[in-house]
Amino acid sequence: MHCVLRVGRVRPVKALRRFTVRAHLPERLNALAELSTNLRWSWHPPTQRLFEDIDPVLWSELDRDPVGLLGAVAPSRLEELASDAEFVERLGALAADLQDYLTRPLWYQKLQDSDASVPSGIGYFSMEFGVSEVLPNYSGGLGILAGDHLKAASDLGLPLVGVGLLYRSGYFRQSLTADGWQAERYPSLDPQGLPLRLLTDFSDAPVLIHVSMPGGRVLRARVWIAQVGRVPLLLLDSDIADNDPELRGVTDRLYGGDQDHRIKQEILAGIGGVRAIRAYTHAHGLPDPEVFHMNEGHAGFLGAERIRELVTGQGLDFDAALASVRAGTVFTTHTPVPAGIDRFPADLVRHYFGSDDGSAESALLPGLPMDRILALGAEPDRSVFNMAHMGLRLGQRANGVSKLHGIVSREMFNDLWRGFDVAEVPIGSVTNGVHAPTWAAREWLELAQQTVGEQALQEARGWERLEDVSSATLWQTRNELRAQLVDEVRRRVRRSSLERGSTEAEISWTAGVFDPNVLTVGFARRVPTYKRLTLMLREPERLRRLLLDPDRPVQLVVAGKSHPADDGGKALIQQIVRFADQADVRHRIVFLPDYDMSMAKFLYWGCDVWLNNPLRPLEACGTSGMKSALNGGLNLSIRDGWWDEMYDGENGWAIPTADGVTDENRRDDLEASALYELLEQSVLPKFYDRTDGIPTRWIEMVRHTLEHLGPQVLASRMVRDYTLGYYGPAARAARTVDADGHAGAKDVAAYRRRVEAEWNAVEVVQVDSEGLPDTPVIGAKLSLRAYVRLGELAPTDVVVQAAIGRVTDDDDLTDVRYVPMAHAGSDSSGEIFETDTALPVSGAVGYTVRVLPHHELLSGDSELGLVESARP
Ligand SMILES: *Cc1c(COP(=O)(O)O)cnc(C)c1O
Repeated sequence: MHCVLRVGRVRPVKALRRFTVRAHLPERLNALAELSTNLRWSWHPPTQRLFEDIDPVLWSELDRDPVGLLGAVAPSRLEELASDAEFVERLGALAADLQDYLTRPLWYQKLQDSDASVPSGIGYFSMEFGVSEVLPNYSGGLGILAGDHLKAASDLGLPLVGVGLLYRSGYFRQSLTADGWQAERYPSLDPQGLPLRLLTDFSDAPVLIHVSMPGGRVLRARVWIAQVGRVPLLLLDSDIADNDPELRGVTDRLYGGDQDHRIKQEILAGIGGVRAIRAYTHAHGLPDPEVFHMNEGHAGFLGAERIRELVTGQGLDFDAALASVRAGTVFTTHTPVPAGIDRFPADLVRHYFGSDDGSAESALLPGLPMDRILALGAEPDRSVFNMAHMGLRLGQRANGVSKLHGIVSREMFNDLWRGFDVAEVPIGSVTNGVHAPTWAAREWLELAQQTVGEQALQEARGWERLEDVSSATLWQTRNELRAQLVDEVRRRVRRSSLERGSTEAEISWTAGVFDPNVLTVGFARRVPTYKRLTLMLREPERLRRLLLDPDRPVQLVVAGKSHPADDGGKALIQQIVRFADQADVRHRIVFLPDYDMSMAKFLYWGCDVWLNNPLRPLEACGTSGMKSALNGGLNLSIRDGWWDEMYDGENGWAIPTADGVTDENRRDDLEASALYELLEQSVLPKFYDRTDGIPTRWIEMVRHTLEHLGPQVLASRMVRDYTLGYYGPAARAARTVDADGHAGAKDVAAYRRRVEAEWNAVEVVQVDSEGLPDTPVIGAKLSLRAYVRLGELAPTDVVVQAAIGRVTDDDDLTDVRYVPMAHAGSDSSGEIFETDTALPVSGAVGYTVRVLPHHELLSGDSELGLVESARP
């Protein structure tokens, strides 16, 4: 590897520790304190402009960080502003606007007026949160999604509390070596310099959360609060002197350590997280959350902690506590591949949860039997503890993050509901969305505001009205945004070239990188193999021709981080960098290091085409293309994740997939070739064919995208879907099982124990049919009578269903319709169930009969994963 020696530079003295001193604000500017620490500024352009006007140079140098700005700005400048009547008035108006935003009844308050059953509080747990670039507490899509969830929840008025960890150095910062290899840095963050405040108790002392560790040790964490509009985000931080050095390091990095490090983080997030919520609601006199949402399984231990609370605090037994916890828990899975799921050796779980003397009771969660804790994450291979399985066992409601991912998840977890059709696996889907005020360029927000007004925009409604904007304005806006991106690309390429060891004299070319009039394609994302970063390099000469075409060229901006331990990913980045380093193409293709939120915005704003070519169906949802669409970018993508359900033929392009081809090389060849062809035949002509200087067909697609995709891709749509489809039903279920001293939970638990104990005795003994003529026609009546043995169960404990559908040559039923059968007495053969039903289809038809447990407090008859069918 190349090594750059910097000669003649004195190594600066290194600080042992850094901390931030906040400025003393003149009294008349006091309101700046809240405006800078409530992260609502990050999606409120007028507030951003106020900070920018305090000191435009510092604002840009400090990467648009209000807290940093107030710390760095000269006191004399603050004094000057304090006596500037116009500034003070503007500040007053913005402070009043923030107060109004924080207190005004919003969508959720109106919903509460008409439906008292929506939850009074929701706890939202995630290992990462990407709220703003000033709080770099995320690695990629999962964290950004969590950040957008909080912001949309705030805009809609949800009583939601976010919970996660504060990492001392977040995720790594990426740079490149001279020969294009990824280098990582972990600059440490000082919480004092971030928009955070400490959670304190009534005596103003910082609250400390305690979680016991093996060997009698205790892991302690303080709790920082980031205020995300109306939503508090609680971030646990173990980096305090009360902890021994090893435990101090628990929150050092995101995804940085080994399994042992990781399980400590997840214990702190889940168990410590519940304790932090309790401390927060107690200190603020707020109701406890009724619903707990696990954004991926990482924080799944939260359910075990809540079981412990009920066992030790309310005297419930484990089963009743589990029933209560399940009712109020929502689990969202984000991973379409088994390899992506978080799993621990069961021994590691035993080590952290068990006691040193090997007793049957957990030491970490006293009152809970170890075997029950281990069973929550059990796989058939008992040496493994699976966090997603735990999520599904602790959450009565579960979902994937796009329609396609819902299907994939139902298949992937079908084993937990053995005997059920894939379609019956109780995992739904809520397609992800993105927060428009964060991701849409100011230019669009201002246009939207002119058409629909500020209020409407705050609920992120009315995006679709951008269709009314004239073609000339649409095109002009696209051109302005592309030009801003070109400036940003030049700035970053220049900086990266210097970092990679070039001298000023060698980098004059960077001033001419990219052209504001050339079709700009963006590709930015993490670099796991399935995302196929290098698919575009499949035919390098064909790509070169596209880039260098004299009349209709393409320019390509690429970015993305590889996991530090993934050398394969780093090699892919290096391939791109080496290609982009070539002198003949370097003005048309760039790799920008250190993809993060601040860079991403320029890409989403400025790219004409957003390229995505994952191996279908490995992209659970994907959200970057949504952000591009909000800015009038057109997606050019494999039909995976969200694009599978939202591509409509006019809002972009679907790269045909070679789904059946198993040879990966050949599949890549085919899909890459289809990609080039789309670019050559459709994308480029539409962009470069102009009438009166305007690419009419292109602008029609842009308009169509804004109008039709705009409303669908919004995080506000996603949060509404969660509220109506998941949080509301979960709160209702939780209230029902918890009423009258948890009577329902005890009832469900007793029922479940009984059913599980008796299920072996359940049997469909015999099925008789009647009334069928020799050659039945569709609609003819079929009478079925089944004799069923139920052991000690009562007929009301189950449902018996006739399953009727087409039958294959192997006697498999397809297109099955389930018809309930009524209890009609009993005889010596068992309980009798009957139905009369019309034959639903023609052709080869078959039927069978099955028995499922049924209880009104279960979310559905498949919930317990038990089914007994007639045996042929
Ligand atoms: C949106 C976003 C992502 C996730 O994008 P995908 O399409 O899911 O890969 C990752 N990183 C940043 C900085 C983002 O803004």
